[in-house]
Amino acid sequence: MAWQLGDLTRKRTTDTVGLTRFRLQRGSASGVRAGVAIVIAAVMALVATGVAAQQAARQAPPPTRSIVKVTGDLYMATENTHNTVFLVTPQGIVLADPINAEFSTWLKGELATRFPNRLVRFVLHSHHDFDHASGAEVWNDTAEIVAHDNFAAEVKKAAAVGRPGQYADVRMPESTFHDRRTITLGGANVEMIDPGPNHALDTAVLYFPRERAVFFVDFITMKKRFSAVIAGPAPFPEWVKAMRAVEAINFDIAIPGHGDIGTKADVVTYREYFQDFIKVVSDGIAANQTVEQIQASPALDKYKDWQNFPQAKDKNIAEAYALLRAPRP
Ligand SMILES: [Zn+2]
Ligand SMILES: [Zn+2]
Repeated sequence: MAWQLGDLTRKRTTDTVGLTRFRLQRGSASGVRAGVAIVIAAVMALVATGVAAQQAARQAPPPTRSIVKVTGDLYMATENTHNTVFLVTPQGIVLADPINAEFSTWLKGELATRFPNRLVRFVLHSHHDFDHASGAEVWNDTAEIVAHDNFAAEVKKAAAVGRPGQYADVRMPESTFHDRRTITLGGANVEMIDPGPNHALDTAVLYFPRERAVFFVDFITMKKRFSAVIAGPAPFPEWVKAMRAVEAINFDIAIPGHGDIGTKADVVTYREYFQDFIKVVSDGIAANQTVEQIQASPALDKYKDWQNFPQAKDKNIAEAYALLRAPRP
């Protein structure tokens, strides 16, 4: 699923500003004020470039890409609103999602420069969606491509209903895991953990035990931000179970597939919000309310300081309303 409520500030920032923004996001209100200043500066710069440049930018916006160190030898790489992670070891690199072929080609060049002679030995898929899973072929010369054992079937299902060619760059894994698998390279471990059905049926949460970090995609959002993705094959109580499975992992740092790095407390906050949100919509349905009546109710106003409350609240209510009323197979 594409991230539809993309963060304009992230799209407009350069690599350097992206890095600054990452640091600021871990801070406090002063960070937010500084972030606002960056946005204002970016808008002023945009105005200064003139109308012709704006039109050119609209036609083909270049992707914003960055690499930031998370901790130790663990890094996050980002293209626009999509994140992946990689771990550098003496014997090579373990990469999570390839995101897409162009991004992977760019990342391959960056890794060759920054970490010469450390080849990517594993590509570990978070789930099948094309906007995270495309481009593994770029690494196939040196890497083993690993995914959940439902991955291939989910790709076939998604490709059958997607746009023509949408899954052309998603290749099938060379090995799979069920429940849990430990990838070992250069003395480091990365665990692939199936938290259960949620947004997808082939989810791998990646756990980096030495770094006390986890990487997860599309079913938990960080930093008091609503998810733009609540559609998926699993009933909502299964999502909550998957979130609790993540909480049960022994970590401090939470790296999402979209948005900013957070902590275990952010995972808990999101899961509690998610339960509350589903209850509000379910209670409305039980009381025979229309979707508009639920949207007009103040029941979720306690979340109005969340980053994308105005854009996401009504949309998420409408999606959850439709999903909760839809017959499930
Ligand atoms: Zn997805
Ligand atoms: Zn996504």
